[in-house]
Amino acid sequence: MWLKSLKEINGARHMKRMCAIFFIFVFIVCILSSCGTAATEVKKQIFAMDTQMTLALYGDNASNAAEDAVKSINRANALWSKEIPSSEIYALNNAGAGRKARLSESTYDILQKALQFAEETGGAFDPSIGPVSEAWDIQNKKTVLSDDEIAKLLPLVGYKNIVLEEGCAYFRKNGMKADLGAIGKGYISDIVTDIFKSNNIKTAIFSLGGNVGVMGLKKDGSKYKVGIRDPEGTANDYIGYVTLTDSFIVSSGDYERFFIRDGVRYHHIFDPKTGKPAGTGLREVTVIAGNGAMADAYSTAFFVTGLDRAMEFYDKKGGFEAIFITDDKRIIATGGLRDIFTFTAADRGYKYEN
Ligand code: AMP
Ligand code: MG
Repeated sequence: MWLKSLKEINGARHMKRMCAIFFIFVFIVCILSSCGTAATEVKKQIFAMDTQMTLALYGDNASNAAEDAVKSINRANALWSKEIPSSEIYALNNAGAGRKARLSESTYDILQKALQFAEETGGAFDPSIGPVSEAWDIQNKKTVLSDDEIAKLLPLVGYKNIVLEEGCAYFRKNGMKADLGAIGKGYISDIVTDIFKSNNIKTAIFSLGGNVGVMGLKKDGSKYKVGIRDPEGTANDYIGYVTLTDSFIVSSGDYERFFIRDGVRYHHIFDPKTGKPAGTGLREVTVIAGNGAMADAYSTAFFVTGLDRAMEFYDKKGGFEAIFITDDKRIIATGGLRDIFTFTAADRGYKYEN
């Protein structure tokens, strides 16, 4: 009996040893083959939200991550487009005063954040700019609105008249319209980053119509270099670049959508107080931050407030860095960029002031 049980014990020990060897073997095979999903580099280009988007990511699960990101971008477009009749923003914009539109979680959340940024920036960023942006329709119409036309629209602009409650939104005035054009791509940048992180992607760079996000380090171990566009050049001309990791870099400028009439440039960033394209002496504002929605909203807001008010905001609030390009070719960067911004446009007549 005793002998038998000793045999059994020895047998069990042997089994345990065999199991351990088997598991170590499986573990090594898994490491060598990455369990059948070898690390890959995936690059994707899509057209969504009226703009070109590119994703480049590296990791075991890069294909799945890229697919999920594209699905999320398309879903956001379907929810927030002003033009698609089945979108939630379309439903809200056409509901009429006091009529509640039920929103999905992400639409509620983006509107909530938009209202917060509107409050913080004193209404320079205003998601209720819709009636003005729609009437100007800079991309297609290319006609200058009269002061009378603008005067009729201005009472319809005012983020304080957007009400959010219990999963719904409504406007306090008839004719109000939400426009998420200045925050949508930044907000999706945050979602894309979350998707990449949950897929264990360590290295990625993506651009959602110029809203750039970088994650981790490049494959060679160096930081990403992101070019800052020259507002006077083409999309491939830069005034310099920033060297960074794990950040969002978003620019707003008067060169993106505009037309010129009688020597005046009419562009797509409006001052909610005047209903006209903002004119504060800036050609471009770039914001660098750890949050994409914030970087997007702030870059639009600072274009409207102008340099001095933006710098006051920076001193008071912080949490981001910024580069301003003025219409007299000065480039001003906030303090935190001293070591990571490289200016390269002296030969094109720009002057850099830090
Ligand atoms: P961005 O390129 O991020 O600066 O966003 C510009 C877009 O946001 C425009 O095409 C409009 O749809 C919308 N927009 C324009 N002016 C404002 C503003 N002051 N606040 C919020 N959205 C705006
Ligand atoms: Mg913006």
